[in-house]
Amino acid sequence: MSVIPPVDLTEQFQTIQAEVNAAVADVLASGQYINGPVVETFAQAFGDYVGTEHCIVCNSGTDALYLALRSLKIGPGDEVITSPFTFIATAEAISAVGATPVFVDIDLATFNLDVTKLEAAISDRTRAIMPVHLFGRPVDMGPVMELATRHDLAVIEDCAQATGAEWMGQAVGRIGHGGCFSFFPTKNLGGCGDGGAFTTHDADLADTARMLREHGSRVKYHHEAIGVNSRLDSVQATILAIKLRHLETWNHQRAQVAERYSSLLAAVSEVICPQDATFGRSVWNQYTLRLTQATAAGQERDRVQQAMREAGVIAMVYYPIPLHLQPVYRHLGYQPGDLPQAEAAAQQVLSLPMFPELDEARQLQVVQTLKAALAQVGLKAAQYC
Ligand SMILES: *Cc1c(COP(=O)(O)O)cnc(C)c1O
Repeated sequence: MSVIPPVDLTEQFQTIQAEVNAAVADVLASGQYINGPVVETFAQAFGDYVGTEHCIVCNSGTDALYLALRSLKIGPGDEVITSPFTFIATAEAISAVGATPVFVDIDLATFNLDVTKLEAAISDRTRAIMPVHLFGRPVDMGPVMELATRHDLAVIEDCAQATGAEWMGQAVGRIGHGGCFSFFPTKNLGGCGDGGAFTTHDADLADTARMLREHGSRVKYHHEAIGVNSRLDSVQATILAIKLRHLETWNHQRAQVAERYSSLLAAVSEVICPQDATFGRSVWNQYTLRLTQATAAGQERDRVQQAMREAGVIAMVYYPIPLHLQPVYRHLGYQPGDLPQAEAAAQQVLSLPMFPELDEARQLQVVQTLKAALAQVGLKAAQYC
């Protein structure tokens, strides 16, 4: 029996192997490994794809978030509102610039920030809102932008899991003041290593981000700020440029995989399937179910995951502990129960294998394995809530 992994990057690589090998060989022969025309061409192409005038490529999605915040001069004493149900990098970047993350609860149906709860979290220290388009599903940006305008706040979109997603016909990453993307291998547009990008319409922010990413210098060996070394290398850029041309096809395939899961799972009453985006387009970085009967710190959910693993299907838990309850944020003083929807999500979620090349036969195997695991653990039908 072959194991079905959460994501398989080798199948996709085979389809572009010849093209990638030739392009990488050209870069290696060129001797120009950092900056240079290959990197600039990709940055331009990616900015065009997102629809912003400026695109600053860098070392990772985490660095893109950091550079965005630094460019906005957000730092000690400032607060940034974000989701507690995301990868640590979102809040980590806020902390890395010296600001304080303020967590607002999510909407369990979408796993994204509950936009109706944002306003109550705004204080006189709030400088920005950082919505996360989690699992590839766009946040409802209308209320976010309206609130930000009214309170004079910046909006930095964490688009790490959502390259190609759209809200009301606009690509994510061009709606707020800045968009931050990750090219980590498992993201929708992933390189063969680390990489990231910061997209913006604002020339000043772009200029500052470029300066910060090069050790705080615009002119070599003239340093005007404490910056970082965060560049995308030419090998990654040439690979990403090739993959960008296939991204629409791959995102379309992901949507088909999601649709097939939802129809195969329609009669499985123990789980609640993720819904498609209601005001845009989701790009399905993950297909994440909820097991609503899984309580008591997610023990039943963990047993379902374990039973599936034993049967050769690797499902994942993104994320088992919401950020407000992470040890690293204990000093912020949040208690269990403070953000109940995020805490419920952490106990209930299970992400099924998801990648563009996943075919119907393997999806059937995933669903059969899930059904057997649910029966083994004895979870009851979902209570729709
Ligand atoms: C992956 C990810 C990041 C960080 O991206 P890296 O390239 O791994 O640094 C930030 N936010 C979210 C939501 C992510 O999923």
